[in-house]
Amino acid sequence: MRILVVEDEEVIADVIATKLRALRYEVDVSLDGEDGLYNALSNIYDLIILDIMLPKVNGLEILKEIKENDISAKVIMLTAKSELEDKLKGFEIGADDYVTKPFHIEELIARVNVQLRNTKNHKVKDVLEYSDLSLNIRTSILTCVSTNESINIPYREFLLLEYFMNNKEQIIAKEQIYDKVWGIDTDYESNNLEAYLSFLRKKIKIIGSKVSIKAVRNLGYKMEE
Ligand code: CA
Repeated sequence: MRILVVEDEEVIADVIATKLRALRYEVDVSLDGEDGLYNALSNIYDLIILDIMLPKVNGLEILKEIKENDISAKVIMLTAKSELEDKLKGFEIGADDYVTKPFHIEELIARVNVQLRNTKNHKVKDVLEYSDLSLNIRTSILTCVSTNESINIPYREFLLLEYFMNNKEQIIAKEQIYDKVWGIDTDYESNNLEAYLSFLRKKIKIIGSKVSIKAVRNLGYKMEE
């Protein structure tokens, strides 16, 4: 799951991002409203944590754009106590929740978890299943249920596999994979998607699964039996 944090106070942004990453969320940070708006409109996020007082473009304007562009991400607003009016405006525009500054990081995390649990397309489950594969997203252990063999999946391959299992039997474009797994600011050529895919294919094969990740010429990749 990918989360965007739009917050101009670097220390706060850091605390939030560090905590979320420790919980295995993929996190991108925007330190001003312009960058935040640009990233938000990429529509690759499951959730956006959005400060209101931001340089260049404020959080309410960003929220408005998010809603007008049908971006599916859940939005949690960060508001100062004195910004009650902003908070109400935020709800009017369509924020899903808000947290008042100063906040305890655990409170924010609890609200993030509630929002992601409510997300219909991406249910937060402990286990993802496809065909004879079962991926435990807490432990990163991949099991083939027909052979009962298991293997530990390293971080980047885990993100890849999770994305494929959430989009099984669909063709996924290379660009989508890069955006989702490496983040939108990445230099495409430097991350060598093919290499990671081949590591992942090898692991799927080692545990005896009949699932494969096929290249579809000029279109991308597809996970199938
Ligand atoms: Ca701010």
